[in-house]
Amino acid sequence: MQRLRERIEAKVKWDEETDCWVWTGRLSAPGRQGRPHREGLIKTFDPIESNDLKRISVARASYMAYVGAIPEGMCVTRECANPLCINPEHLVLRTRSEHAQRKRKRRPIIKSNED
Ligand SMILES: [Zn+2]
Repeated sequence: MQRLRERIEAKVKWDEETDCWVWTGRLSAPGRQGRPHREGLIKTFDPIESNDLKRISVARASYMAYVGAIPEGMCVTRECANPLCINPEHLVLRTRSEHAQRKRKRRPIIKSNED
């Protein structure tokens, strides 16, 4: 895991104001897996997704490198507003359904009975 940390830290820029670690390395194509924003990718092993070396979300890699293993069915999301942030202290685990619920709550509410 030491090497993974080094590879991550080589490509992050620290944002002094928000304490975010902003990923400056490779990004996914927009819209990948239905996600609206691009996310950072790093080539490593994800023991949950596959045993092969492949490109995975750098947020997942950061969580594994600094916090620990990600239980099956959980996804890594962030508490801060920066989609490229991979500060392990800003990363939290959620189940996929919790993640989907949070996404729904963020949509604007259309008021139909104003008058
Ligand atoms: Zn952050």
